[in-house]
Amino acid sequence: MTATTLREASCADDYDPNSMPVDRARALIRDYLEPVTTIERVHIRQALGRTLAADVASPIDVPGHDNSAMDGWAVRFEDLANGAETVLKRVGESFAGKPHEGRVSRGEAVRIFTGAVMPSGADTVVMQERAEERGDRVAIAAGAAGRAGQNRRFAGEDLKAGAVVFRRGQALRPAEIGMLASLGINEVPVFRRLVVAFFSTGDELVSIGSPLATGQIYDSNRYTIGAMLARIGCESVDLGVVPDVPEALENAFRSAAESADVVITSGGVSVGEADYVKQLLDKLGEVVFWKIAMKPGRPLAYGRIGRAHFFGLPGNPASVMVTFYQFVREALLILQGRTQIEPVPTFRARLAAPLKKVPGRTEFQRGILARAADGAWSVRTTGDQGSGILSSMSQANCFIVLSERTGNLEAGADVEVQPFEGLV
Ligand code: AMP
Ligand code: MG
Repeated sequence: MTATTLREASCADDYDPNSMPVDRARALIRDYLEPVTTIERVHIRQALGRTLAADVASPIDVPGHDNSAMDGWAVRFEDLANGAETVLKRVGESFAGKPHEGRVSRGEAVRIFTGAVMPSGADTVVMQERAEERGDRVAIAAGAAGRAGQNRRFAGEDLKAGAVVFRRGQALRPAEIGMLASLGINEVPVFRRLVVAFFSTGDELVSIGSPLATGQIYDSNRYTIGAMLARIGCESVDLGVVPDVPEALENAFRSAAESADVVITSGGVSVGEADYVKQLLDKLGEVVFWKIAMKPGRPLAYGRIGRAHFFGLPGNPASVMVTFYQFVREALLILQGRTQIEPVPTFRARLAAPLKKVPGRTEFQRGILARAADGAWSVRTTGDQGSGILSSMSQANCFIVLSERTGNLEAGADVEVQPFEGLV
């Protein structure tokens, strides 16, 4: 992506840098992203959360052999009498990991356990509850097997050797790690980690460890951003606090862009400070200065500094988290090489108390979702939705997503919620 493409985009019909609808802004960002291409090989123990850089085919049939789905008796179906008990001779045992070596011939049965290899000759497993051992014989109840092949798992029924199991661009979760192990694969090709440099801007900011003077506040955004980046598997470069001084900012932007794939800043993009940062970025790169039609998070800048992607997040701590989750997260996943990004699920819940909303912007209010007495999902806001109130993000367990058109809502209204936690 070049400066030209950014300019072309800015000439598009529905482009309005001062009031970009949320979906349009997301789509526009998506168009500019070029995923990393460098590949490294990692042991599956280190692969959690990484993105596969190549398809993975199964080197083996899974299961490798026909085996029993039950504890019971391996028999030849044709030996079983129709509508009557059948007495067979016990000729051996087949345990998981310790198969029966011999054949099952006419009139014979092998005691078998779940996962054990089917002895040759036998085609069916009768569950143990339908059989009775009598010395070296076993009596199989009438109708204990309905058809040949019952309770038998077939070699390759889960996966055939050579079949593609996972696709390039897929995230490795615990299930994939386990499946790779089940195929005997110990190393996989993954895309390299994305390097993200970030810094906070503001003369009022003090790093933790130093006392506060009047009017100063602790810089929390850098720690929130560092933690959010760690959760999605990025390597991060913390460049500290940069004062609102032109030369200092220019230097910080330059060194961030040199050291990283993505540069994230917080603060300095609101009215008053924005023009200055805009000038600086026009000089160092190319920026589409967005005021997204959303709340919180209206001032959000996206563009390029040199080869790095740039996200200029607002300064207010709750806005930082909302804009990160609604815009930056997906962009970072795409840049990491993910091709199958599941949309974060949303569902409808019942509003437990009235809610204030002015039409015109998409709002991401912080909500507390719980089961009501009747079992339905019910949600209320965390209270004051000020964008500086970081505790709202800590108390909340979901966003209440309110569309641009929505206005004030009464208790009982149906609203869209986006839960924070995923299971896997
Ligand atoms: P700004 O966008 O720079 O005007 O900042 C908006 C508000 O967020 C101001 O109240 C700032 O003090 C506050 N703020 C900016 N950066 C941070 C930060 N890194 N940590 C905590 N609060 C911040
Ligand atoms: Mg500031």
